Amino acid sequence: MKHTKFLIFALVVGIISFLIINSRFLVIENVFYQSPCDTPITYKIGSIDERFGLPRSEAVSATKQASDIWNTTLGKQLFIYDSGATLTINMVYDRRQLLNTQINLLEKDIKSGKTTLKDEIANFERHSAEFNNKLTAFKQKVISWNAKGGGPQEEYDKLIQEQQSLNEEETLLRGIAQRLNLSTSQYNTQVDELNRTIRSFRNALQVSPEEGVYNPQEERIDIFFNNNRNELIRTIAHEFGHARGLSHSTNQQAIMYPSTTQFLTPTADEIAALRKICRKRPFYEPLFETFSLYLYRFGKTL
Ligand SMILES: [Zn+2]
Repeated sequence: MKHTKFLIFALVVGIISFLIINSRFLVIENVFYQSPCDTPITYKIGSIDERFGLPRSEAVSATKQASDIWNTTLGKQLFIYDSGATLTINMVYDRRQLLNTQINLLEKDIKSGKTTLKDEIANFERHSAEFNNKLTAFKQKVISWNAKGGGPQEEYDKLIQEQQSLNEEETLLRGIAQRLNLSTSQYNTQVDELNRTIRSFRNALQVSPEEGVYNPQEERIDIFFNNNRNELIRTIAHEFGHARGLSHSTNQQAIMYPSTTQFLTPTADEIAALRKICRKRPFYEPLFETFSLYLYRFGKTL
């Protein structure tokens, strides 16, 4: 009996100690091992230039889609929309967006110019075909009267009148043909000029290929483009990547590739880099990082 009581007592003590030790380990692990990604980055939408043509609700949903790209990659809330956040995303209409809008307008001009000219040429060709039919009919009438050795005065007068109206129509058609030739050559010159302008605009755009900028000091992300939704989401995701510590990638399909694309899926390398940033590490590791950074700076000033 005494033994049984002791055994029960020992078992209870054992279970309690096990629980205490393990829960301590849990606490210890939480205290000593932390991930910088345990705290999500919160963001809000700041100013949207109305020339962007982007309603605030669409800007919010685009940023949510962009943050979901990273959130689902790690199965963790890395970015959360919060109207009280300090990190602000602004849609800034600058020279780049202006140039891009101009390119789109010029391209539209070229297309519409082509359509108008095409319609005019088609009309002219229809008109010319009608005229040719009338001319053939007229010639046949003249031949048949001649074969009969001539006709009455009345018929002769009618034919003369018809001939005059055909002459007038021919002059008119000739005028249209000349104008269309001129328009076509003018159109071609215009297209050449427009293409040259578009080329120079594109060159200007290539100087600054990134469509957004993350500024950690001011805690802001500025987005300069709204070409289409995919591109916008990709640009925001790219800047979010910078905010989370990701640097540029040379892989053209990567979200962190510095030029604009429409790829919305992180590459294996990007996922690995993000996992590395977000890994749980001992609390003293960031201290060492700061220390070594300090030493590096110190070394540099020397
Ligand atoms: Zn970048």
